[in-house]
Amino acid sequence: MARVLFINGGSEGHINPTIGVVQELIAQGEEVVFFTIEAFREPIEKTGATVRTFDGQKFIKAFISGGRNHLLERVNGLLLTADIVIPSVLEQIKGEHFDYIIHDSMFGCGHLLAKILKLPAINSCTSFAQTKESFDKTIEHLSQNVPTEVLTRINDDFQLLTTKIKEKYDVDINSPYEVFCNPAPLTIVYTTREFQPFGETFDQTYKFVGPSISSRLIQEDFDLTAIKEKSPIYISLGTVLNQAIDFYKLCFKAFGNTEHTVVMSIGGQTQLDELGKIPENFIVKNYVPQTELLKYTKLFITHGGMNSTNEALYNGVPLIVIPLSADQPIIAQQVTNIGAGIQLQMQSLTANQLNEAVNHVLNSPSFHKAIANIRESFQKSGGYRKAVDEIFKFKSQNGI
Ligand code: UDP
Repeated sequence: MARVLFINGGSEGHINPTIGVVQELIAQGEEVVFFTIEAFREPIEKTGATVRTFDGQKFIKAFISGGRNHLLERVNGLLLTADIVIPSVLEQIKGEHFDYIIHDSMFGCGHLLAKILKLPAINSCTSFAQTKESFDKTIEHLSQNVPTEVLTRINDDFQLLTTKIKEKYDVDINSPYEVFCNPAPLTIVYTTREFQPFGETFDQTYKFVGPSISSRLIQEDFDLTAIKEKSPIYISLGTVLNQAIDFYKLCFKAFGNTEHTVVMSIGGQTQLDELGKIPENFIVKNYVPQTELLKYTKLFITHGGMNSTNEALYNGVPLIVIPLSADQPIIAQQVTNIGAGIQLQMQSLTANQLNEAVNHVLNSPSFHKAIANIRESFQKSGGYRKAVDEIFKFKSQNGI
């Protein structure tokens, strides 16, 4: 039995794939101490891990204060979270021994903590993986239209923040890539190599284990029996950027009182009564058991979050992707590349477009053929069990 330090803050999309991994690690005898924010205590505690927390509000505030306009500002935002996460983690594990660390690919300063604690590290990557070359290229591309004085200011901030971190914690940060992607000797990626852009360019330290979908440990108040037979259209914009009343109303206009049954998850930040009259063929909730629901869904209208997309492909559900930010445009592009669906743009979206898109996807055999193949490869890929196999191989290679 080894003691594992797990670091994973951020949003549900970063947490969900790790739940099955932690459960399986514990089933195989590991002891897991899991650092996260208070909001995720319950699902993580149910895995059997010991949960400890850092301050979620201060964490998000620090991240956002780095700036939201440019990717490099988000890098600085992540550096600003170091003072929220690192002292708190170090204080709470004082005097304890850990054998290795598993950390999120983005949130929680895992790469830095691994260096500070000198622990063998595993990166838990809940989006597409990035090599340093692909990340640097993205930065270069995104920097093209940014005025020089803005870039200079962002780079100066980066230098200042990394110098401060070096002074405080005695660790070097060599590039924005290290901060944003938290590289490690082993990276577990929760999708398939085929779906990963330029999948063939990743070496054997990247293990594409496919979607990590485990049974939800918290029961949602949702009656699945009512929709099992109805094969609904499912609509969700995920758990973060889901405040979109106009979009939800547009969906009423497009699909209200049609032959479709529609399940719509509107997220915790919008109240049901803000939406006006809900058409009878709609079931609208703040949150639904998505991985269960997708088993019965005929089509998913999504923002293209990595987890939502993986979960849909795993269940053989074609997609209409309306990407909003972050990695979603790339994910939307990949969905169209593999023939699993189409994408629409939120700006200037009309009810007519939505309707036509749904009819097109539902009535074109090519989508169903492509999706059946993808479903098979996703289901074969192994998920959290494969992830844990790879973690155990890593342990034995490192004498743990
Ligand atoms: N989710 C859910 N019920 C909902 C909405 C979302 O279970 O009503 C889950 C979904 O299954 C996925 C995660 O929340 O695992 C959302 O992650 P994703 O990467 O798709 O999007 P994000 O929320 O990070 O934008």
